[in-house]
Order: sequence, then C-alpha cells, then structure tokens
Amino acid sequence: MKFYNNFTQEFETIFDLANADEQKVLKLWQGLGYYSRARNLHYTAKYISEELNGVFPTSFKELKKLKGIGDYTAAAIASIVYNEPVPAVDGNMFRVFARYFNINDDISSPKTKKIFWDLGLEVIDQKRPGDFNQAVMDLGATICLPKKPKCEECPLNESCEALHLNKVEKLPVKLKKTKVSNRFLHFIDIECDNGIAMSKRVGNDVWKNLYTLPKIETDTDLLDKGWVIDEDLQKDLIFISEEKHILSHQNLFIKYWKLNVSLDKMLNLQDKIGFEIIDRSNIDDYPLPKPIEKYLNKYYLH
Ligand code: SF4
Repeated sequence: MKFYNNFTQEFETIFDLANADEQKVLKLWQGLGYYSRARNLHYTAKYISEELNGVFPTSFKELKKLKGIGDYTAAAIASIVYNEPVPAVDGNMFRVFARYFNINDDISSPKTKKIFWDLGLEVIDQKRPGDFNQAVMDLGATICLPKKPKCEECPLNESCEALHLNKVEKLPVKLKKTKVSNRFLHFIDIECDNGIAMSKRVGNDVWKNLYTLPKIETDTDLLDKGWVIDEDLQKDLIFISEEKHILSHQNLFIKYWKLNVSLDKMLNLQDKIGFEIIDRSNIDDYPLPKPIEKYLNKYYLH
C-alpha cells in the first residue's frame, strides 16, 4: 500500500506519469523488484497519453496491445474494471482449477493454457467476472496453497475432485521445472573524498536502468582473474561483505569490495570503465536495486 499510495500521489493522472523522468519512476518503484513493470508502465502511460488521447482501453483485446500487459493482466483489468467475462489464467488459477476439476495436463506446456482458458470462459460468473477472478486468485493465494493446502477450510471442499480422489498434492502437473541460474557478482565500492562511483545498468539484464556500484561478473565466487582493468589496483581491493540475493530465475552471489583511490586514479578508472561519480549526499536520488541500497545504507547513508 505504501508503494501504491506514493506512486499515485506523485502521478495523479496518466499524463503526470507519462511526463515523468524515468529515474523518478524507478526511484518510486525501488524495493518492489520486477523493474521491467515500472518501465513498461511508464512506456504505456506515454503511449496512452500520446497515441490514445489519454483514454485507457476498455476491452481485453485492446488492453493486450499495451506493452507489459499480457493475457493475465488484460483479463484481470477487463473483468475487474470493465466487467468483461474473461478468465485471468495465472499460477493460482492453474492450481485451483487443476485440483477442483482434476485436470492432469502439464501446466508447463504452452498448449495447456488453452484448456484452462476455455474452461475458465465456460464457468466464469457472467454477471460478476471480476469477483470470480479475484476469488480464484485469493483462494489460490490463501487456501489452495502449493504445499499443504487448507482443504478443511476451503469453501469448495464438498465438490473438489482432487480432494475426493485423494490426489491434491499431485496436482497441478508441472513437468518442466523453472531453470534457475547462479551468477557471481562483485561490486566495487570506489570512493574518493565525497564521490562514489556508480554505473547505470544498460542492456537487457536484471535491474536495467537502475544504478549499482561498478560490477565485475565471474564464473565462480572468486575474484582472481576477474578485473583485468588494473592489476595493481586489484591488489588494493578490500573485501567488505557478501550475500545471496534470490530473484525469480537467478541466484545472485554478491560480494562487495572497497577501493580507496586518489582523485587522479578515480578519474583514470572512470575513463576505462565509464561510471558516474556521484556525491554521497545525492545517492538517495538514484534508483537502486535492493542489495545495493542495503549496502549503501549500511556504509554511507545512516
Ligand atoms: Fe484446493 Fe483443497 Fe479447496 Fe480442492 S478442497 S480447491 S484442493 S483447497
């Protein structure tokens, strides 16, 4: 709620959001993760204000044309806001439906989605589709849980097929496991007087357009041959701390290193690596991923 209130207070209309600086949008999103959502929201606000005269689309079909809005979000908005009877198919719906109707198809297969979509269309409440979708979401999030579902409290337990067949734990069927990769990131805290080196992340990777300390990525957690920029300086790196940060598809093994340098050296490194030198007192203005925010909070901000 705090994030929602801050966001809607800052951007009261879609035009306010469209005209905002991306850095500000990301800053208000800071701490929520999934930053592509903030970037898409910003992009879409611009699109709606410039191309659609500020009028938000009102149908499932039109909503799906917006960047960042797929089947699930389009169905959720269309049903909850505009009363269109379209099912919101997500992980919760897969689980509740697979169990309640005893569907044994593999939910990791793209073909299966159509089975759930068609069934959803058939059973959705025509008069209250938004309430129906939210009920399925809530049931999946609070009662029909992935592990240890609370069937005894469930309002559907008298007619749930999986419960009667004693196969609740076996459904839904998911054959392909989500692949999680391990990454080893070393962040170098290069400091001189009041300036700290910070890099804006570009390219299609996690935390796009957010700011981090300059980063080195290695194949293992050792920083032996990682930093070819300056071998002399590599010897001066002081290990500060480490942590594991888990994202939806990646485990990030992060180490923080400190490097105190003269202004000359810092400018020299800036030429080679291309970071910005930010005044300590201004760090709070920049959008930061959670681990970096935590590190800077601990060592700089308070
Ligand atoms: Fe899910 Fe159990 Fe309810 Fe069936 S009875 S819908 S398995 S919580």
